[in-house]
Amino acid sequence: MPHNPSTSGSSTSGPVAARRRMMQIILTAMLAVGASAVASLAFGRVDTLAVLTVAGALLTLSLVVALRGPVTAAVALLLGTLTAMVGLLAWRGAGFYDPALLALPGLLVFAVLLGQRRVFSGLLAVMLLLTSGLLMAQTLGWRQFPIPLRPGSLVHVWGILLGTGFAIWLLAGDLYRAMRALQEENRRVHESRSELEHLASHDRLTGLPNRLLARDRFEHALAQARRNRSRCAALYLDLDQFKTVNESLGHGAGDQLLQQVGRRLQGLVRATDTVCRLGGDEFLLILPDIGDADAAARVASTVVEALGQPFDVEGLEIVTAASVGVALGPDDGSEFDAVLKNVDIAMYRAKALGGRSFRFFDPAMNDGVLAHTQMLAGLQHALARGEFELHWQPQVHLASGRVVGAEALLRWHHPTLGLVPPAKFIPVAERSGLITEIGAWVLHQACRQAAAWRRDGVADLVVSVNLSSVQLKRGQVERTVQQALAASGLPPARLELELTESMIIDDTHQVSETLHQLVGMGLRLAIDDFGTGYSNLGYLKRFQVNRLKIDQSFIRRLTQDHHDRAIVGAIVQMAHSLGLVAIAEGVEDAATLQCLRGLGCVEGQGYFWARPLPAAEFVGWLRSRSVPQAAAAPLPA
Ligand code: C2E
Ligand code: MG
Ligand code: MG
Repeated sequence: MPHNPSTSGSSTSGPVAARRRMMQIILTAMLAVGASAVASLAFGRVDTLAVLTVAGALLTLSLVVALRGPVTAAVALLLGTLTAMVGLLAWRGAGFYDPALLALPGLLVFAVLLGQRRVFSGLLAVMLLLTSGLLMAQTLGWRQFPIPLRPGSLVHVWGILLGTGFAIWLLAGDLYRAMRALQEENRRVHESRSELEHLASHDRLTGLPNRLLARDRFEHALAQARRNRSRCAALYLDLDQFKTVNESLGHGAGDQLLQQVGRRLQGLVRATDTVCRLGGDEFLLILPDIGDADAAARVASTVVEALGQPFDVEGLEIVTAASVGVALGPDDGSEFDAVLKNVDIAMYRAKALGGRSFRFFDPAMNDGVLAHTQMLAGLQHALARGEFELHWQPQVHLASGRVVGAEALLRWHHPTLGLVPPAKFIPVAERSGLITEIGAWVLHQACRQAAAWRRDGVADLVVSVNLSSVQLKRGQVERTVQQALAASGLPPARLELELTESMIIDDTHQVSETLHQLVGMGLRLAIDDFGTGYSNLGYLKRFQVNRLKIDQSFIRRLTQDHHDRAIVGAIVQMAHSLGLVAIAEGVEDAATLQCLRGLGCVEGQGYFWARPLPAAEFVGWLRSRSVPQAAAAPLPA
């Protein structure tokens, strides 16, 4: 059966075109009916005029349906209206000798071209019934036509209708088949065009974008960076010793290695980044919106690290490495070619250094980043190699001189850099996430030490441990604390956690939940570096803080600066009225101590008493003091 492909919805423009065409046909039919109506009016044929008017109204309705409703309904209404109109005109006129019957073959053509199987067959059947009905009406005496209808003429009429219908059916079938073949051809052309486009913009071996697409993506990233006033990065990498793999294992193995490198690189980057193969063993990574040089350095160092891991090619373990050049756009070039040239220079510098490393194009960036990556690499192994140590600094009750607590301060003995201060390595550990592991070690070590001092009767101190915001946000710190307390046997009230104001002000649901749990466990909280942060102090009560550690910056010039004295006095007063203990940090001399006593400060910590000391020296210092300590006699656990 002919099936009209344009109304089948096989292409998106099909239904729209069919609707428009349908409306044109209805308008043409309305025009023809209108002309006939004018002619009927002119010749005074009132009855014909009535039929034509009703037909006109129904055609208008089918126009509305064609505009808003389903096209098939409009087709049925159009064909039904016209067939009924022809039938009525023939009934009122000359039966099947009436000229109106000339319209019937035309309607069949419409039905085939616009409609479907059922519409066409139904219409043909209606036409056959209609014409035979006219003859029957005359035979039964219901209607007398001006020229009597002869049964033989009905055979002619049927012959014309059936013959025309069949011929139209066959021809329309051919037409539709040709249209479908054309559509299929069109689809295939479309497909092969997009395949060609893919081939032109992608590397055949790895399936990664090639230089052509890399240019496009990088220009795009550059434009985005300019718009957002940010940076994008290009990482250009070349495999060290790839030639050797190709020569010794053959090109097949070399190809496999390149494919694996491509996949490994794709696994390292964000979905918005692009990994391209520029040819040979050269790859380009495009990182849009990278932020700062540090972020680019982190990706570069991950790439160097990942490509340094062995590959499995045809069952053989192949070890290769990559040299990476890094350039930042728009700083290192305002268009693709310039950046590519610079990143290539940077890559050769990395290779010249012996490979398995990365270099920035801008030499100024290398020093800072190099120190950073060297520190990061060192930190990753520091725990396992036992390079960390805790030093202890006493906290003293100012009125009695008794040592009431000790702050645990982390020290890193780097094998080549020597003693690295926490201010240098803690930020690196925080950014890399290593702080969680290191912080857990500090907690365990501090609890173990404090419990040992209690057990051995050295002193019963509250030990203070500094927490990092990273630990608080995603370190599951309450679990670590619980484990450290359980493993050491230290009572929770003997452990104090030092937080900074910014950590608490950043009061997410998760942070406050964690703090409440810690307080619930019986731990103490202190606010470190108090006075340097925020002025909203509501959190002091909300989290049941025990101590305020007045920042060193106010203590340093306490005896000379009356502003600092006023600030410290105010903090001491506030702490007192809130039932908190104020402890001054960075007390270095007797004059400062005297001044603090005068202001009513309760406790102090600083070089005046002792610098942070290794555990053994701290015990020696404690024992050397003439003032009796918190508990020098053995205590119950
Ligand atoms: P903080 O918690 O405010 O520690 C006090 C710092 O002041 C320590 O520096 C201490 O050595 C120093 N200090 C103490 N008394 C005096 C003094 O009289 N004069 C002067 N000039 N300085 C004094 P340190 O040990 O270098 O630690 C620096 C910062 O590193 C600490 O500041 C703390 O924020 C952080 N930190 C140390 N250990 C850890 C740790 O285990 N975890 C975390 N997350 N941070 C730590
Ligand atoms: Mg502290
Ligand atoms: Mg402090």
